[in-house]
Amino acid sequence: MQQILVLNSGSSSLKFQLFSMPEENVLCSGLIERIGSEDAKFKYKTNGETIKVVTPILNHRIALELLSKQLLDPETGTIKSPEDIDVVAHRVVHGGKEFSETIEITKSVKEKIKDLSSLAPLHNPANLEGIIVAESIFKNAKQVAVFDTAFHQTIPEHVYKYALPNKYSDKIRLYGFHGTSHKYVSEKALCLLGKKESKIITIHLGNGCSMSAIKNGVCIDHSLGFSPNAGLIMGTRSGDLDPTIIFYLAEKFNLTLNDLNTLLQKESGMLGLTGHGDLREIEALANQGDKACQLAIKMNTYRIKKYIGSYTAILNGLDAIVFTAGIGENSTVMRELICEDLDFLGIKLDILKNNERLKTVREINDENSKVKVFVIPTNEELEIAKETFDLIKE
Ligand code: ADP
Repeated sequence: MQQILVLNSGSSSLKFQLFSMPEENVLCSGLIERIGSEDAKFKYKTNGETIKVVTPILNHRIALELLSKQLLDPETGTIKSPEDIDVVAHRVVHGGKEFSETIEITKSVKEKIKDLSSLAPLHNPANLEGIIVAESIFKNAKQVAVFDTAFHQTIPEHVYKYALPNKYSDKIRLYGFHGTSHKYVSEKALCLLGKKESKIITIHLGNGCSMSAIKNGVCIDHSLGFSPNAGLIMGTRSGDLDPTIIFYLAEKFNLTLNDLNTLLQKESGMLGLTGHGDLREIEALANQGDKACQLAIKMNTYRIKKYIGSYTAILNGLDAIVFTAGIGENSTVMRELICEDLDFLGIKLDILKNNERLKTVREINDENSKVKVFVIPTNEELEIAKETFDLIKE
């Protein structure tokens, strides 16, 4: 049995889950928000009990030290000493083309994660900070990195390359993100289908949204690209845009590069279209007749349909589609609109099954549907723990 602490360090937040593997038991979990402020929030769950504290947490070191004193083992009822943790597994957002697999962290791995910061300036520095602090607190633990981009490293060159002059193509290419989620749900779908030789489309709809085309368990295309702002319309990100719009905005509205970045990452998508970033509010307003919200939902589901069509073409067929993440798991309306009028592809939803409000893995297609439609709750932390366990048990 191994105790694996999964850490997801953001610029001002830190999520953790302590697993005992291979049993996949969660011993405790939690979230620290607003790191760097006098009123940071620390919320953790152990033994079914949730505890919330508001306290000054000025940096990641203080956050991790605080967390390391709360790792309660429910079996023994004792707080685990940081020295007892066998492995710390870190979610790292950008692995570039260097990392296609989960890897034990060495000095050179840290250097490469640092070098990749120019591609993920909001994420990789925070991930690296989490690694450096964890090494000094969990002194006996192996440190492992699991990359969000790794699952997409199988995408072939004619797909990942952009049609820019070749001198730019060393770093500029499709990397993809949400890889841990797409891997987790696609493996579950393959188990449900009972065969690895399958053509699957996974649809991850949360605040960030993405789709993957997966052939025989291998990712062959993905809707996010060089950055996590491509493809689908998201909570606050535009997704696919004609790049010329950016020059037009800069010139006509006097926007700087910084303004444009904020506009495209934080003020666009569903928020820009409706004034709301949370789909629950948008659905409620659309039901009350709000035209902007109705239109945004139509635009959003239309684009997902377009990707289903193109991915079915490149897969040359389709066995299953999988919905996951906050919206994919919970929004009956979005799933219904996305699957509407796709019967020529063999997709037919069972409306009653789609409307059931369950939190479990389920099949929601009509029994005559050629293509299976699954809802599979994602669990990125468990996938990170599983991959880490597979690495260290060898
Ligand atoms: P993140 O990408 O931050 O992990 P989540 O996967 O938690 O995000 O998804 C957040 C999104 O899920 C929000 O837009 C939220 O409105 C949406 N969501 C959650 N529950 C529901 C629901 N019952 N109906 C519709 N949308 C929902």
